[in-house]
Amino acid sequence: MGNLVQQRFAALVIFLAFALALLAGCSGDELPQAAPQKAQTAQEKPAAHAPAQAPSPPATAQPAVRTVQGTVTSVADGDTVHVRLDGRDERVRLIGVNCPEISHSDLGIQEQPYGREAKAYTERCLSGRKVWLELDAQERDKYGRLLAYVWMEPPASASEDEVRAHMFNARLLLDGYAQVMTVAPNVKYADLFVKFQREAREAGRGLWGAAPAPSPGGEALYVGNARTKKFHRPDCRWAEEISPANRVEFRSREEAIRQGYEPCKVCNL
Ligand SMILES: [Zn+2]
Repeated sequence: MGNLVQQRFAALVIFLAFALALLAGCSGDELPQAAPQKAQTAQEKPAAHAPAQAPSPPATAQPAVRTVQGTVTSVADGDTVHVRLDGRDERVRLIGVNCPEISHSDLGIQEQPYGREAKAYTERCLSGRKVWLELDAQERDKYGRLLAYVWMEPPASASEDEVRAHMFNARLLLDGYAQVMTVAPNVKYADLFVKFQREAREAGRGLWGAAPAPSPGGEALYVGNARTKKFHRPDCRWAEEISPANRVEFRSREEAIRQGYEPCKVCNL
């Protein structure tokens, strides 16, 4: 008798598991609608202010990360989106990351490999979505774009786990749709971003899948930038920022110098 009820219940559970798996989309563990948002009341307060004026923190439960809430209305390219914020349309450039270009024939910009994929990924993850913008030291760039970290959930803290799970700038790096581009003074998450990019590169994700294979016989000992003609130790932060298209690997210091490369002054080769 109870058997039929049990079977129906089991079917419902299976259906729900499927539905949740489908919803999880861009960042694996997030459930956009269902997740409880305990930080929300504290987060929503600053949304009433313009991003320029830093609101004073609430007396109780001070949020570790201050954000303003908005809605993504359209996606210009992988790292630039339009956000409805306090009734205004803001062009928002994501801090610390750079996606391959899509073509802008009017500006003479050529399409780069993976540019379309990066834009499609950002559209898939952010279009029409409610987001929480965190600013860094500098509010805008010289083009008047708002510079922001785009959180897909209100952040409970600035911990690595939180950044990894819920910040879209980090998702772009982790999934191989962008490279690190550090521009001082906006460097709050720069070290984490370099770490995330390294993970994506080592796993050959996204645009890194197209990068040249490591030299036969093991790890590259030195890494060169074909554009600047400098070479680095692989763990140098400047080596981390070389684009896949410009990355050259050397088995020895002599090999690099023979090919006309100069040693980096930071990693003291
Ligand atoms: Zn270096």
